[in-house]
Amino acid sequence: TTAVAAVDLVKVYGTGATAVRALDGVTVGFGRAAFTAIMGPSGSGKSTLMHCLAGLDTATSGQALLGGTDLTRQPDRVLTRVRRERIGFVFQSFNLLPQLTAEQNIRLPLDLAGRAPDPALSARVVEVLGIGDRLRHRPSELSGGQQQRIALARALVTAPEVVFADEPTGNLDSHSGAEVLSFLRTSVREWGQTVVMVTHDPAAAAYADRVVLLADGRIAGDLDRPDRATIS
Ligand code: ADP
Ligand code: ADP
Repeated sequence: TTAVAAVDLVKVYGTGATAVRALDGVTVGFGRAAFTAIMGPSGSGKSTLMHCLAGLDTATSGQALLGGTDLTRQPDRVLTRVRRERIGFVFQSFNLLPQLTAEQNIRLPLDLAGRAPDPALSARVVEVLGIGDRLRHRPSELSGGQQQRIALARALVTAPEVVFADEPTGNLDSHSGAEVLSFLRTSVREWGQTVVMVTHDPAAAAYADRVVLLADGRIAGDLDRPDRATIS
C-alpha cells in the first residue's frame, strides 16, 4: 500500500517572468515499509518535492497525499499537527537543540505533542542505535555520527508513518554515514517505517530499495534495487 504520494504535483516559485517551475507535474508513490532515495542534479526539485510531501511547503497544484490526506488542502494548524504526529524528520545538519541533553532532544517531539513515550519503543531505539551511554550528553559533547543517531532516535520515538531524511549523511564521514544508513534500513524492517531520503551520494542511495531520479522538476527515472554502477 502507498504511504505517501505526489499526484501531478506542480510547484511554481514566484510569478511572471521570474517564475521558477520547481516541480512540473510529478506523480510518484512511496510504499509502506520501503526505503526510497530521491536523487537528481542540484536544482532538480528534490527538496521541493520532499517539503511538499512533508507539509512544510504548499504545492501550486496537484495532490500531496499522506495516508490518503491531501496536504495541499489543509490549513497550517493541521499541517503542524501532521508534521508533529505522523512524520519524522532527519536533516543534514542534525538540528539538535544545544541546550538540551540527548535524551531531552529525543523526547522533544513527544513533549510538543503532549504524548507519553512508549517505553518499549524508546528502549529499542536507544539499544539499536547504541546511544545508551550518551543520553546525558549535550550535542556539543557528541561526534557528528552520534548527533545524527540522536536525531534519528528523535525522528522515530513518535512512531511516525513516514521518515523524511534530507542528506542525512551529508555531514558525516563514510563510517558514521554507513551506520546511519544501516539504521534507516533497520527501522524499515523492524518498524515498517516508510523512509524517503534525498541524497547526492550514490553510496548512500545504494542502501535504499529504490531510487527515484528527478530532472528539471520531473521524474526522470525509477530504479528498484539499484547498484552503484547504474546510479552513479
Ligand atoms: P534540489 O533540492 O534538487 O537542489 P530544489 O527543490 O531546492 O532542488 O529547487 C528546485 C528549483 O526551485 C531550483 O531552480 C531552485 O532555485 C528553485 N527554488 C527552490 N526554492 C525556492 C524558493 N524558495 N524561491 C524561489 N525558487 C526556489
Ligand atoms: P510550528 O510551526 O508550530 O512551530 P514546529 O516548528 O513544531 O511547528 O514544526 C513541527 C515539525 O516540523 C517539527 O518536527 C520540525 O522538526 C518540523 N519542521 C518545522 N519547520 C521545518 C523546516 N523548515 N524544515 C524541516 N522541518 C521542519
